Amino acid sequence: MNIHEYQGKEILKKFGVAVPKGYVAYSPEEAKLAAEQLFAEISSPVVVVKAQIHAGGRGKAGGVKLAKSAEEAFDIAQKMLGITLVTHQTGPEGKQVHRLLVAQGMNIDKEFYVGITLDRATSRNVLMISTEGGMEIEKVAEETPEKLLKIQVDPLYGLQGFQAREAAFFLGLEGSQFNNAVKFIQALYKAYTTIDASIAEINPLVITKEGDVFALDAKINFDGNALYRHKEFIELRDESEEDPLEVEASHSNLNYVRLDGNVGCMVNGAGLAMGTMDLIQLAGGRPANFLDVGGGASPQTVEQGFKIILSDKNVKAILVNVFGGIVRCDRVAGGIIQAAKNIDLKVPVIVRLEGTNAEAAQKMLDESGLNLISANGLRDAANKVQQAISAA
Ligand code: GDP
Ligand code: MN
Repeated sequence: MNIHEYQGKEILKKFGVAVPKGYVAYSPEEAKLAAEQLFAEISSPVVVVKAQIHAGGRGKAGGVKLAKSAEEAFDIAQKMLGITLVTHQTGPEGKQVHRLLVAQGMNIDKEFYVGITLDRATSRNVLMISTEGGMEIEKVAEETPEKLLKIQVDPLYGLQGFQAREAAFFLGLEGSQFNNAVKFIQALYKAYTTIDASIAEINPLVITKEGDVFALDAKINFDGNALYRHKEFIELRDESEEDPLEVEASHSNLNYVRLDGNVGCMVNGAGLAMGTMDLIQLAGGRPANFLDVGGGASPQTVEQGFKIILSDKNVKAILVNVFGGIVRCDRVAGGIIQAAKNIDLKVPVIVRLEGTNAEAAQKMLDESGLNLISANGLRDAANKVQQAISAA
């Protein structure tokens, strides 16, 4: 689960990570009040108005602006709220701005990068440090890998003092800047593990002319599988930032990820779902989604799955691939038939059922008189998908 920058900063602050003062604003009036408040509290001559969307690259896209007065913050907010920002992370459709962060302006001396995530290759958390702050870190890793230091963290010992110092050395810091950076990195790591984040990324981390270290930006992703341990974070979810079909699927406990292909698929089990997506590709189609309906595949989940797949206008055919292990194939076929009667299936549905009572299931589908095409095995399923999309 992703959250907004201002929410991430509020969490990090509780762990002792230094963040600039700031307030969230939903309207130009609130932005003006926030700016007035900040000018009263701090000595900075500027505040920064930042679009809050679940994507980076806002700076270049016009989503980060400086204001020298509360009136100017009002004007900027008026222009920024409601616009659709297109950045290199939003995709061409962009994201609409509904909230702003009005924050204390910083007297920036240097901009660095610090990120923590799980390295799946080593099964360890990795701390990443770069002097190239404010840049796309993927580009830095690709083009100038010597400018990105990666430190693997032992899960038993956690981030060690010498590792945090190694990171601060890499940034070329000395004196109080060095000490502040070490403290910052240790606090960030503590936050990352305690809240079960999957990413904690600060880009840029800045050193001010006064020698202070601040997180100027914050990207926090939570590990969805650990969210049950953090009920306090669930309310931070902003569904307006997510794909509407994925939101709907998550409410019916379906494991659905939207893709941009033309063949929808409904499968029980994540591994089989991945294999099915390969199968679709092999048949000359492109998967429109990943959908794991789980072991049970009840009539209700099947029906809900069809509805979500069909809400995607790119879908020209659907492949149902279910292995009847825990659940019998004839029961799944019954569920599919019932669901197909309840909803208007505008596209051909190819059904491959394998396992207990597969033959009986195939017979039920063939005799249903519905737009259901039974397939016998994977090859047959691939051929039938191919026929369906070339006919569409
Ligand atoms: P992103 O582009 O979405 O990653 O948004 P950031 O929060 O990283 O901001 C982009 C850039 O705006 C930063 O790299 C800074 O150069 C600049 N910026 C952000 N906040 C401030 C600030 O308080 N003062 C100044 N001078 N620049 C800022
Ligand atoms: Mn950033």
